[in-house]
Amino acid sequence: MKKVHCQNCQKQIESKKDLYTTQIFFMVQAYCKNCYIEKIKKLSSLVVSNTPLNGKYSNFLAAITLVGLILVYFAEIQYIKIPLILVLSLVLLMRIYSFVRFERHLPF
Ligand SMILES: [Zn+2]
Repeated sequence: MKKVHCQNCQKQIESKKDLYTTQIFFMVQAYCKNCYIEKIKKLSSLVVSNTPLNGKYSNFLAAITLVGLILVYFAEIQYIKIPLILVLSLVLLMRIYSFVRFERHLPF
């Protein structure tokens, strides 16, 4: 198993409970719980999303995004169809990346 370290304090993250992944300018980064809370307090929610990329809530959002993607694909909305598909795909890709890059290396 690959070790996951906090982006900020370099502490080794031991479990999924202590892992918070977030995206900053489309870069997915891993933080420990303390650093994540600190960072979110400091930075504007416009730059960093307040919702971590991992966790149950994010899995729920990813499922909704997937449904949205399918709906948009079949919808008759020519002008915004491509941008919508791109944005929704990006959201899903970042969720998958967070899992592949960090979460799968950690026990629950
Ligand atoms: Zn940390």
